[in-house]
Amino acid sequence: MEQLNKIDWVKMDNLIPVITQDATTNEVLMLAYMNKEALELTIKTNYAHYFSRSRQRIWKKGESSNHLQEIVEILLDCDNDTILLKVNQEGVACHTGRKSCFFTNLTTNETISEIQIDTSAAYGVIDTLYHTIQEKKNDDPTKSYTAKLLQGKQNSMLKKIVEESGEFTFAIKDDNEEEIIYEAADVTYHMLVALASKNISPDRVKQELARRFGISGIEEKNSRKNS
Ligand code: AMP
Ligand code: ZN
Ligand code: ZN
Ligand code: ZN
Repeated sequence: MEQLNKIDWVKMDNLIPVITQDATTNEVLMLAYMNKEALELTIKTNYAHYFSRSRQRIWKKGESSNHLQEIVEILLDCDNDTILLKVNQEGVACHTGRKSCFFTNLTTNETISEIQIDTSAAYGVIDTLYHTIQEKKNDDPTKSYTAKLLQGKQNSMLKKIVEESGEFTFAIKDDNEEEIIYEAADVTYHMLVALASKNISPDRVKQELARRFGISGIEEKNSRKNS
């Protein structure tokens, strides 16, 4: 697609910011990034595709939640370095279940819009837990155990993984089903906290696991170098 070369992809480090707006209400829904392939897919399919920096892959908005964005218009700004996407939003744009991602007043810390849809089922337990951990990063460490782990000494966070892994192995040895499940949950939680400390989405772990059993489709496509 010739017109995609209006964007100086090299100068942009291969990513262009995209502001997504509701085509009927003009509400600003979200901001995300596209690489060239995501923009091509968006034009070709007429549904918004982005490049997720945390997951390091192309993502069709709504791939898990079904909250798809049908394209109405794609606009390029004056100096060709930002895209404005006008869409018909299916459901809501934000993974929290709010219509728009912009619901926090930075100065007062107030929440200015309500959750419309419970998205936890759509995103699965692991992704939902990872998001919750991310959101607690800056919470008061005297009130949140997750915040305490993330803000305290790295060593104590890592010790917990070793400790919980140890407890898990003992549970297996003791052949105690309830304990095995409980300890596996502990290991999983603490591993997700450590991943969150490095901003590595569990999606990337899933991609690596999928790669090992040679999955096809979107994972395969996204594992190729995007340009
Ligand atoms: P979805 O595209 O709604 O199926 O969501 C797929 C993944 O993208 C989930 O991990 C979501 O948390 C994440 N996600 C969905 N919407 C947004 C958004 N507006 N901004 C950032 N991440 C999102
Ligand atoms: Zn610009
Ligand atoms: Zn959001
Ligand atoms: Zn434990």
